[in-house]
Amino acid sequence: MSAGGATATTATRRRPLPPLTEAHEELRLRIRAWVAAELTPHVEAWEQAGSFPDDVIRRCGAAGWLGLKFPVEDGGADDPVGAVVFAEELARCGSGGLAAGIGAHAGIALPPIARFGTPEQRERYLRPGIRGELIAALGITEPDAGSDVASIRTHARRVEGGWVLNGAKLYITNGMRADVIVTAVRSTAAGGHHGISFLLVERGAGVTSAPLRKLGWHASDTALITFDDVAVPEGNLLGPEHEGFRLIMENFAWERVMMAIGAVAAAELALERTCAVVAGAGGAGQETRHALAEAGLLVEQGRALTYHALRLHLAGGDAVAAVTAAKLATQRAAFEVADACLAAIGPDPALERAVRDLRLGPIGGGTDEIMRELLGRTLGL
Ligand SMILES: Cc1cc2nc3c(=O)[nH]c(=O)nc-3n(C[C@H](O)[C@H](O)[C@H](O)COP(=O)(O)OP(=O)(O)OC[C@H]3O[C@@H](n4cnc5c(N)ncnc54)[C@H](O)[C@@H]3O)c2cc1C
Repeated sequence: MSAGGATATTATRRRPLPPLTEAHEELRLRIRAWVAAELTPHVEAWEQAGSFPDDVIRRCGAAGWLGLKFPVEDGGADDPVGAVVFAEELARCGSGGLAAGIGAHAGIALPPIARFGTPEQRERYLRPGIRGELIAALGITEPDAGSDVASIRTHARRVEGGWVLNGAKLYITNGMRADVIVTAVRSTAAGGHHGISFLLVERGAGVTSAPLRKLGWHASDTALITFDDVAVPEGNLLGPEHEGFRLIMENFAWERVMMAIGAVAAAELALERTCAVVAGAGGAGQETRHALAEAGLLVEQGRALTYHALRLHLAGGDAVAAVTAAKLATQRAAFEVADACLAAIGPDPALERAVRDLRLGPIGGGTDEIMRELLGRTLGL
């Protein structure tokens, strides 16, 4: 069996669940074959190496996967649902870290440039990013500002022709390799939600990255990035000055939908692998069968909530409650599915990796506690 699971190379055509269409299921087959040929065979080596080659991002770009969500005029396909299919199939490579590295570039760092970027910024960063020739990271979290993003301290001082940047960003995915860091900075002396801006910071003088060790996501590089008197030109302000909090909030919606999509797909892969092993061994006792049945229920509940949130999000308007519920429901659940699978057939290296990788879900993109706070607010609490 491959590291990616029992069905990594044997895709069967699914009936499309809205908002997916027949065309998306065709796309799924193409992406699944590509992932099985280009990524899955190398997962073990990249996990061991603690990183994957930059060329992987270039090849994703050349295949057309990085631009699925973005406008045609920027080199994309204007098909956000296609980007969802890519995220689902990417999860089937069996390495959360590899999926995270590619996903951080295309799913959380490039979208704000597409949404708020000037024509010059789109030309310089978005188009090469979609081709996979430039790698982007999103830098929001700091050593003393995680859940409470309003307390960020990385500071941009206005100077003639731009800004001078000082501070640090922690746990930044692609933080070692990124050519450009979409960076949240404090741009006024006032604290709180106002006075946050975004700067497109190119790697150069004053930007240093230090790698961080993690429980999972071994193939993904995660870094502490330090900015020491970094000169950022005027033209690299992304979106309105001092209004960056809105950018953070808008970006969170898509990031959380994509995290839910990835968690459900990774949990489903773990369950498929486990059921194949159990079936191959001639079946299992009732306790194991019931545990796996419950795991299957978690996968289907997660998918239903996530597709619901996706439909609302794509329709526009306020999807906060649905997106928050999908993120909260899927992350711990995916970890529990992988854990139940490991208990059923372990020891198993692919499932051990899935358990390690999926532990990040209840932390990244807003912790479970923060999701509960947000959901409570939608109930008027
Ligand atoms: C592998 C990895 C990759 C990451 N990639 C990126 C990236 O690319 N870019 C980026 O900007 N960030 C990234 N992050 C950071 C991630 O978004 C943060 O870790 C997350 O937002 C939580 O922040 P924190 O770690 O500072 O924890 P804290 O905010 O310090 O929280 C610690 C604990 O306190 C709880 N808590 C905090 N506030 C409240 C509250 N008000 N009510 C109840 N409980 C609360 C939290 O839920 C948590 O359990 C990454 C993190 C990891 C681990």
